Amino acid sequence: MLPRLPATSILTAFLAALLIAAGAVRPAPAETGALAAGTRWETTYRVIDGPAPGPTILLVGGVHGNEPAGSRAAEQIANWNLERGRLVIVPRANRAGLELACRALPFEPAERGDLGRNFPRSAGDAPRGALAAALWDLALRLRPGWLVDLHEGYHYSRSQPRSVGSSVIFSRTPRARETAARLVEAVNASIDEPEKCFELRSPPIRGSLARAAADRLGCDALILETTTRGQPLSLRTRQHRILVHGLLSELGMVSGGVDRLMSPRRPDEAAAVRVALYDGEGAAAEWVEEAERELGSGEGCIAMRVGPRDILGGALEDFDAVVFGGGRGSRMGRALGDEGRRAVRDFVRRGGGFAGISAGCYLASNGYPWSLGILDARVVDRENWRRGRGRVTIELTGEGRDLLRSPAESMQALYVNGPLLELAGDSGQGGEPSPADDAAPAGCRTLARFRGGIGDNGSFAAEMAGRPALAAGRFGEGRAIGSSVRLAGAGGLDRLLSRVVLWTARKPREKAAILR
Ligand SMILES: [Zn+2]
Repeated sequence: MLPRLPATSILTAFLAALLIAAGAVRPAPAETGALAAGTRWETTYRVIDGPAPGPTILLVGGVHGNEPAGSRAAEQIANWNLERGRLVIVPRANRAGLELACRALPFEPAERGDLGRNFPRSAGDAPRGALAAALWDLALRLRPGWLVDLHEGYHYSRSQPRSVGSSVIFSRTPRARETAARLVEAVNASIDEPEKCFELRSPPIRGSLARAAADRLGCDALILETTTRGQPLSLRTRQHRILVHGLLSELGMVSGGVDRLMSPRRPDEAAAVRVALYDGEGAAAEWVEEAERELGSGEGCIAMRVGPRDILGGALEDFDAVVFGGGRGSRMGRALGDEGRRAVRDFVRRGGGFAGISAGCYLASNGYPWSLGILDARVVDRENWRRGRGRVTIELTGEGRDLLRSPAESMQALYVNGPLLELAGDSGQGGEPSPADDAAPAGCRTLARFRGGIGDNGSFAAEMAGRPALAAGRFGEGRAIGSSVRLAGAGGLDRLLSRVVLWTARKPREKAAILR
């Protein structure tokens, strides 16, 4: 679908504003359309109109397929509340490349494989390739006031000037320069280490969409570059959001904060389970990749990565469950800090689901200064936490089979230094409530036990045998599961992670009234 003509747009926006003011209708859902339809590079775009007239912004992510943060940020930004104007978003410009995690356009010869260099360089020049032509045509029709292109560099511009990582590249107008300076200031306020701070650069490289839009269409243009090196995806995505939020705020186009990742729930919405997957400090990158792949491949499940700052900013509000996986539980807990841990506890207390897998299970337990105390279980044999890695057999209890909908009575699982748990008991009585809130963990049950054990680095295998491998409980209105085995990653069980997460998120509604 083509964007409507500007005059029509102003009239419809005005009428829509009147109707919304009168309480007659809610804002219309975004329109979508396809670029390069019918080709191997086909990708979608969204046109979001605010209730009042205002500037048009064209926001593009994923021009380079190995730079995922921009496409994720663009998809999250599509869920923001637009106050005025028109926001047109192409979240996955090089969709085919993003799917393969490769920079270039698949199926194009090398000379036009870089979508970021395929746009007109002079007055008589034409875009190269079907996708660049479609994007350029969209820009020509929209005549945006601003073009914003989201990218990632391999190193921090400040310490490695050969890379454009962590920079805002502005087109050569005073307005673009001044705005870019304010955006850099805003994003740098979120960065603790000076060498990772953003810098200003100009102009955008020849052949880029930003340069072509600035030179040929006379709009202001920005290329926003994060740095992939040593930074989790959630952090890079958040930096993109901060920068775009700064621009939209300056233009009076957006309300709400930068940590809105999902749209607020609509009553008529199909009930996809929304899962926040922690990828911040302490999370093992390969576990997160594997978990995201499994959760994302399921029916009706949306997984998004979050870090401590997203959680502090209230991002969990729009999710059904949060997952903390493999890595180091102590580092996760410390990265969250008092406030972040309180935000996670509040989320679960109010009915959110919690899955703590392997390192995340240490985090769920009680007794460490950095743990959440969401599961009424303490960790025993703590000094031998490095007891090793290997395949183990776990036996599901009747409740475990019921709750996880598993017909198998036992299964093989990957164990990597998971906690040995001692549950508070099946009395249903809660543990001590934390002074910070009014909930206490309760009703902790064993879902599976270790049949044998692992005993490296001076520990004893016998200490592990018979201990809970999976446990479930409740915390306030929410459900929690802790798993000492990995459930995703090499040797992951048969979609057991998805089953765990779905149960904590109460979807589908359980027939067996376990724990309730
Ligand atoms: Zn790039």
